[in-house]
Amino acid sequence: MGIRVLPENVAAAIAAGEVVERPESVVKELIENAIDAGASRIQITIEGGGRKRIEVVDDGEGIPSVEVPLSFARYATSKLSTKEDLFNIRTLGFRGEALSSIAAVSNLEIITRAKDEETGTKITVSGGKVKGQNPFGAPEGTTVRVQDLFFNVPVRLKFLKTKTTERRRISKVVSRYALAYPHISFTLKFEGKARIQTSGNGNRLEVLGSVLGLDIAKEMIAIPETEGSRISISGFISSPSVHRGSRREITLFIQGRWVQDASLSAAVVQAYHGLLMVGRYPLAVLFIKLPPELVDVNVHPAKSEVRFQDPGTVFTVVQRVIRGVLLGQAPPPQLEVETTWQSFERPRTPVMVDPHWEIAHHESKEQSEGIVQKKLDRIQVPLLRSVGQVGASYLVAEGPDGLYLIDQHAAHERVLFEAMMRTWGEQMVESQALLEPVTLSLSHSESLLIEEQIELLKALGFDIELFGRDIFRLRAIPAIMSNTDPSSALRSVVEEIEEDERPLADAVEARIVARVCKRAAVKSGQVLSLEEQRNLIRDLEACETPRTCPHGRPTMIHLSVESLERQFGRRG
Ligand code: ADP
Ligand code: MG
Repeated sequence: MGIRVLPENVAAAIAAGEVVERPESVVKELIENAIDAGASRIQITIEGGGRKRIEVVDDGEGIPSVEVPLSFARYATSKLSTKEDLFNIRTLGFRGEALSSIAAVSNLEIITRAKDEETGTKITVSGGKVKGQNPFGAPEGTTVRVQDLFFNVPVRLKFLKTKTTERRRISKVVSRYALAYPHISFTLKFEGKARIQTSGNGNRLEVLGSVLGLDIAKEMIAIPETEGSRISISGFISSPSVHRGSRREITLFIQGRWVQDASLSAAVVQAYHGLLMVGRYPLAVLFIKLPPELVDVNVHPAKSEVRFQDPGTVFTVVQRVIRGVLLGQAPPPQLEVETTWQSFERPRTPVMVDPHWEIAHHESKEQSEGIVQKKLDRIQVPLLRSVGQVGASYLVAEGPDGLYLIDQHAAHERVLFEAMMRTWGEQMVESQALLEPVTLSLSHSESLLIEEQIELLKALGFDIELFGRDIFRLRAIPAIMSNTDPSSALRSVVEEIEEDERPLADAVEARIVARVCKRAAVKSGQVLSLEEQRNLIRDLEACETPRTCPHGRPTMIHLSVESLERQFGRRG
């Protein structure tokens, strides 16, 4: 066989393979087209996991009837005309490949009416061949209906996952775009049932709630948008109390485009260094914008990768901004002492400067590195000297830089949590054998739960076995609960597991352990001996994250010498 130019349909099929990998990619391309068309409403309907039908309806500017046949020709686009335009791309599409690729591997129908035209157009294409085109009454906007995806590419069909998996992937694409474009109202329906519905009122927080679930959304920290910086970053990151077993929940939008970028994901992870346990990853949705000439979006036909002119800088900025925001949250709140006589001139400026502001305004790299470093130091606790206990709830301690008030319950929770997570990782959680086994008769639902979670309970340090119908025998309990009555120790944990809505979900161990620690920790109102006070402070100093309890509340308040001096009028 000699060299020859491939027939158009073969070339198209090869190209299509790069753009359209699975139903998810079709949905992504069609959403991007609708966004480029200025839509304010995008409705997506999926049947058969996307294999049978994908329909995207928008109210955008539509396609003029004379251009309709061109829209799915290869390399046909209205978004780019000169080579220079490639370096100044402001639309999501620009390669003119999506519709042609989709048309090549499906039965495609486009119904569209341009803003200034009286009637619309309907065109039908099958496997890349036009079957018919006629005028068609339609509202302003565009409907693209993709049916029987990959009907002519059986190999691709084989690679598709189950309908549920494809649905999950599609809903992820839609929810991410809904987050990135809160001014557009998105609707996603599977087999006629609405799954995602956003209002389009521009409130990103609201979308976040509907995308991540309210529980998680509440744990997200907003990154305020930088003004006047060449690289701007905004979005949401999870507080260190929420984490996942993989990086999959780190979503990046660059120039409004959803991209994968291993290096930037790593920058996000790095920013959490020391705040998350090994093997745990944060959640993040980041919107990164930079001048178009600094980023090349034309890397791959699927447009899901970008190349930065200066990748190192972007990496550093992402890492620093996130670190700054996180540490801004992590240090103990400064104590505000109200003094009447000084109230006129007392400076109201917070002691902490907004880390975001600092990073945005410090040009020199060394300088901002210094700031981050200084903040890093601040989350560690210096050596403290125990002074005493107040109100049977707070420990008073002195450090080289002032006074510390420590919440004994929160502090103990932190200490127990870290100790337990350490031994948990090594599968060596200590248990305390009971002198006499305890027999427990439980409710039917409690016992179902114990049977279901028996492995988790054993891992926590409970030695427990089924003894009869709804009856259990308990031989040992976690060592950290050894001062608790054994049956209430078990019940409290069972209660916690029950309260956890998704007992088998990600990070369940850390959550359950945190709750066990809450139960086991000294309570406020408990008088501690001098030695107990000293020990607790020592243990807290040794913690990796001493300044917050496992639930994210502060364990201590710091009153610096400087602020003491200000309060006493020794300083201006
Ligand atoms: P690209 O988006 O890279 O330009 P596509 O193949 O996705 O390439 O689309 C080709 C052209 O068809 C676009 O440039 C645009 O002019 C037109 N088009 C596609 N979808 C829409 C839509 N939903 N609304 C208006 N015009 C559209
Ligand atoms: Mg496109």
